Amino acid sequence: CKLDVNQQVSPSCDITFKEINEINKKIRPDLVSLVQTEFFRYFKIDLYKECSFWDTSDAFCTSRNCAVDVVEDWDKLPEIWQPEVLGSLNNETVSEATEENDNELTFLNQLCDKSKSGSTQKVGSQYDYCDLDDFSKEGSVLVDLVENPERFTGYGGNQSASIWMNIYNENCFTVGETGQSLAKDAFYRLVSGLHASIATHLSNGYLNTDTGNFEPNLDLFMARVGNFPDRVANIYFDYSVISKALWKIRPYMKRLSFCDSYDEKVKSIFLNIVSQLDSKIFNEDLIFSDNISSKLKDDFKLRFKNVTRLMDCVHCDRCRMWGKIQTTGYATSLKILFELDQHDEETKQHIVDKLTKYELIALINTFDRLSQSIAAINNFETLYNQRLNSS
Ligand code: FAD
Repeated sequence: CKLDVNQQVSPSCDITFKEINEINKKIRPDLVSLVQTEFFRYFKIDLYKECSFWDTSDAFCTSRNCAVDVVEDWDKLPEIWQPEVLGSLNNETVSEATEENDNELTFLNQLCDKSKSGSTQKVGSQYDYCDLDDFSKEGSVLVDLVENPERFTGYGGNQSASIWMNIYNENCFTVGETGQSLAKDAFYRLVSGLHASIATHLSNGYLNTDTGNFEPNLDLFMARVGNFPDRVANIYFDYSVISKALWKIRPYMKRLSFCDSYDEKVKSIFLNIVSQLDSKIFNEDLIFSDNISSKLKDDFKLRFKNVTRLMDCVHCDRCRMWGKIQTTGYATSLKILFELDQHDEETKQHIVDKLTKYELIALINTFDRLSQSIAAINNFETLYNQRLNSS
């Protein structure tokens, strides 16, 4: 990649790519174990929520034309490798609200119930950058994230392109506007970083049709991300944003309890990770510092909410779930970064106390997605250099 690793990630991040690589190496093992703990590995999602923007009643596009074109001879592949199967959730790990598993569901639902922090009650939608009602809905299912990794699903073609284009064309500030202010620029970078991170995961866990294994595909990574330094940079930008949000809530986390018996272990891993982060990683005060900032902030919030709602239009279940988790993770970071400072200490504590467990799960899993993307980018760089040296 043609990025200078000693350069600052962006004007609002007083940190270089190289420094982020170093931080990420240090925290990666803890983050991997954190997302495997019982609190962070389950997520609730309404798989049947209707897309509020257009008609998606044709369900998953099973046509070969809807799939990404990189797999050769798709039609000859076995049933289990077809996009609609790869993109589905692993049924054994999805709990529906039936009587038999009601006890288990209640247990999972009450992980950090509202008497503790990480409640299911929100503090007030005026601070939110996404709709939080989705997670408490009847009919939502609990999914084990560890058993349903984000990787290549074959979802692609017009369907996925139209979602990305809708995000860029209708929800990002227009091209002319981008670059005029840090806020408008940050919005584009957030979304492009998410898009690039997803592309990194699908290239890193790409289906090798000879072996049936999911493994790194260097050519695909270069075509989607590696050949575009701005896309790589936007992944680092997103990493900075989420890191700063985690850094910022650290003083208010003392009261946070991640559930009974494993509480102390989970909390100590969490605090260990956050203690490696640095406040200079992102300067949120620069983002809305211009004179029209208040109106711009409302506009920013509205547009971001739309992006989270667009995830309901994604046909592939697994992609939708990870899309929802990540957009909720960004929405939670934006709430922490842009809404906390206007208040006194008591209110700040209250806002953090009232983060729902789904916001916390989304925040940590989104951070893990970006952390894994950065680890994968470094690995792809090694593979690229090995190829260069051997040719
Ligand atoms: P797309 O990735 O669809 O991109 C469309 C156009 O956007 C490109 O032609 C390019 O001009 C532009 N573009 C591409 N990347 C960027 C960027 N980073 N910044 C700015 N512009 C860009 N597929 C999976 O296999 N697994 C998944 O888990 C998965 N999750 C998804 C989640 C969501 C929410 C969505 C919408 C799609 C998901 N997909 C997933 C599909 C995947 O993102 C691609 O759409 C698909 O692989 C087809 O890729 P493509 O190369 O045709 O271009």
